Amino acid sequence: MDCVFCEIIKGNIPSTKVYEDDFVVAFNDLNPQTPVHVLIVPKKHIASANDLVEEDAELVGRVFLAAKKIARQLGLESGYRIINNCGKDAGQTVMHLHFHMLGGKTLGEKII
Ligand code: 5GP
Ligand code: ZN
Repeated sequence: MDCVFCEIIKGNIPSTKVYEDDFVVAFNDLNPQTPVHVLIVPKKHIASANDLVEEDAELVGRVFLAAKKIARQLGLESGYRIINNCGKDAGQTVMHLHFHMLGGKTLGEKII
């Protein structure tokens, strides 16, 4: 399987990791859109949010618990935004489920 995030998780592609536990890893985005732009990624290969199954329910919760810890660690006490792009219309480019965590400045206009 040719998945860039699986390779990052295995350590075969370098990244700047900011968080890791048994289920979730988080690293800086290669092309940051905000002063803090972290990708929070389950270690299990799941192609997109559309490919989640019942047994992944707890894993998604763990992603958000990791986000809370990362926010504290990176000093995002004034807030942050989490975005998941799912599929072609949303512009998903890496087919391994990931959540963008954006912060470090007042974020721009909200989409919703
Ligand atoms: P998507 O467009 O799928 O929601 O987001 C994919 C994200 O992965 C992009 O923001 C892109 O910059 C990031 N990305 C792609 N390849 C790499 C990589 O090799 N390392 C890191 N750290 N980020 C990557
Ligand atoms: Zn993968």
